[in-house]
Amino acid sequence: MFENLQDKLDRAFKVLKGQGSITEINVAETMKEIRKALLDADVNYKTAKAFTDDVKEKALGQNVLTSISPGQLLTKIMNDELAELMGGTTAELNISDNPTIILIAGLNGAGKTTFSGKLANFLKTQKGKKPLLVAGDVYRPAAIDQLQVLGQQIGVPVYANIESKDPIGIAQEGIAEGKKNGNNIIIIDTAGRLAIDEEMMNEIAAVKASTNPQEILFVVDSMTGQDAVNTAKAFNDRLDFTGVVLTKLDGDTRGGAALSIKSVVDKPIKFIGTGEKMEALDVFHPDRMASRILG
Ligand code: GDP
Repeated sequence: MFENLQDKLDRAFKVLKGQGSITEINVAETMKEIRKALLDADVNYKTAKAFTDDVKEKALGQNVLTSISPGQLLTKIMNDELAELMGGTTAELNISDNPTIILIAGLNGAGKTTFSGKLANFLKTQKGKKPLLVAGDVYRPAAIDQLQVLGQQIGVPVYANIESKDPIGIAQEGIAEGKKNGNNIIIIDTAGRLAIDEEMMNEIAAVKASTNPQEILFVVDSMTGQDAVNTAKAFNDRLDFTGVVLTKLDGDTRGGAALSIKSVVDKPIKFIGTGEKMEALDVFHPDRMASRILG
């Protein structure tokens, strides 16, 4: 279904045209096919249904049935609709405060530490900022090392305190250090867990309350399908985050999670991770993701 969706739709419509009359029922059948394909791409049922209902209405309104290339027109309608559902335009990072505090949250293995490094690198090289990274994962000494290695690689200082097991204290110390050294961006990497648990949520909520961040970016592995949506909901309920980072989009996932997450938590997706290297970060473009989801 996803291979050359447009060709398939064109073909389907040609067959329908050959039959002389194209009815609303035929369109409904096609929408059913599209809905199935979206479910295959990890879009959740409610979102897929709302999407196809909308597209159907628009398709009928725009005379898709009588157009010369209905498949093409329908694909365009779907692309536009998908992009709109994912926010329409690129959502900018709010980095106007000096210093701007950015909190990074998510489960273990989602790609938080990697993204923290990528974001610091992006803000330094593309926005001319002077970031400081704060190693707030007090449970994994390896995460602190990892951040320090990344910091060295991209030439960004890292604040760490291996003696401390107090994430709030470390965040405060990091902010003080950044202010002292004139850093205008302070990125706080936080601890994750393998699954959502109350303790982790309490802890990160406390870090949020004590640091008052302008941005709270929720990092999620795009390969985790429906779990990504549930995790996003749990984090958003507790943290009211300001944006989503979808990682590991260099894999073969279609990225349907982007659509589901946006529709469930209604927060903008701001970045996508496309590899392990520090440069493998892209600003999120809804229209490009729409094309990817539709194949
Ligand atoms: P954390 O536990 O959330 O801090 O996750 P890490 O940053 O340690 O990332 C977990 C693993 O995923 C590491 O091996 C990273 O190199 C890898 N990773 C992170 N982001 C991406 C990405 O966008 N693409 C790919 N292919 N791997 C990634």
